[in-house]
Amino acid sequence: MGVGSGTILTLLTNENLKLLYKTFCRMAPFDKLDMPQAHQIKLKVTRRKDILGEFAPDDNTIYISSARNGHFDTICKTLLHEMVHLYCYKQNNEKYYDHDDKLFKKVLKHIADLYGFDPKEL
Ligand SMILES: [Zn+2]
Repeated sequence: MGVGSGTILTLLTNENLKLLYKTFCRMAPFDKLDMPQAHQIKLKVTRRKDILGEFAPDDNTIYISSARNGHFDTICKTLLHEMVHLYCYKQNNEKYYDHDDKLFKKVLKHIADLYGFDPKEL
């Protein structure tokens, strides 16, 4: 196995975020939801320490923080969480950022059940 000097130290790259986004869009529940295609949205790693992730409609970007997401499972959970914000926003949900919003909670709970995550960790 060729893991030597060229070993990548993190899986958290813009390219991998795009791959994960594409994958999640093809899987339930997002495969049945109206999601922007991967080329229609930007996915970026940020070094911000104050957030796990953020969907910023003005930038048309999902940010994932390298300061807060070291492990693959956290990266996936954070990305799925931000994708729900994105979905709510695309549904013309003014409260797309609101974690107590009915639609947000419904989709998040569904994902937690499907993936076997604790909804509080998502
Ligand atoms: Zn959130």
